[in-house]
Amino acid sequence: MISDAKSLQASLTSLAERISAAARRAGRDPAEITLVAVSKTFPAEDVVRLARAGQRHFGENYVQEALPKIERVRAAVPQLPLVWHFIGPIQSNKTRAIAEHFDWVQSVDRLKVAQRLSAQRPAGAPPLNVLLQVNISDEVSKSGVAPADVPALARTVAALPNLRLRGLMAIPEPEGEPERQRQPLAAMKRLFEAQRAAGFPHWDTLSMGMSGDLEAAIAEGSTMVRVGTALFGARPARMQGAAAENG
Ligand SMILES: *Cc1c(COP(=O)(O)O)cnc(C)c1O
Repeated sequence: MISDAKSLQASLTSLAERISAAARRAGRDPAEITLVAVSKTFPAEDVVRLARAGQRHFGENYVQEALPKIERVRAAVPQLPLVWHFIGPIQSNKTRAIAEHFDWVQSVDRLKVAQRLSAQRPAGAPPLNVLLQVNISDEVSKSGVAPADVPALARTVAALPNLRLRGLMAIPEPEGEPERQRQPLAAMKRLFEAQRAAGFPHWDTLSMGMSGDLEAAIAEGSTMVRVGTALFGARPARMQGAAAENG
């Protein structure tokens, strides 16, 4: 079992070292890079263990799995200021729950979803941090806004009152060799920098890099990596990939 407290702490430590080493090789300050622990399919107990070990940002893909987990974690460690990121495909009928229970949404790829998240953010809550998910590998099936449509979507999302547009997110197709890995990551960095010119006041986050490509992503300028497997171990096979959420 990977999930006893000691081994989770050990994998958090070695992951932090991996991130630091990648940052140093790229001539960057490791403190510029936020680690989001992707806890999908893993129980609340594992999140609590990592939170006690100092991890603060957690990512979830499925609303139905996430809500009871968030509740259990809050009950276990109410004193810890944890930050919850929604990183999965967004169904319109799930936007209210997401707006109510998450601090960040990284997978915004259409205006309708952004409008609903803004309208459904509870009164008195701070603005919901959002990233636009970009379809950088140009696949037919994947979610994400096309790179050419990013400027227009960014402009309209930035104008919504209860959202805070922070930047971009991508899930590039995994490519074997490091050089192939870097092409879409470099394209994301260019898109991210090009949008800076638009002057969005909170534009500071480029979320890319997972267990298999975090070194390449950091070399290309990622400020946020989302890591599951390298932290928690392999996920159960049936839950791998972007399984559709029913109901
Ligand atoms: C599952 C998932 C991750 C984590 O992937 P690993 O390869 O396990 O590190 C990161 N981002 C998104 C959007 C995911 O769905």
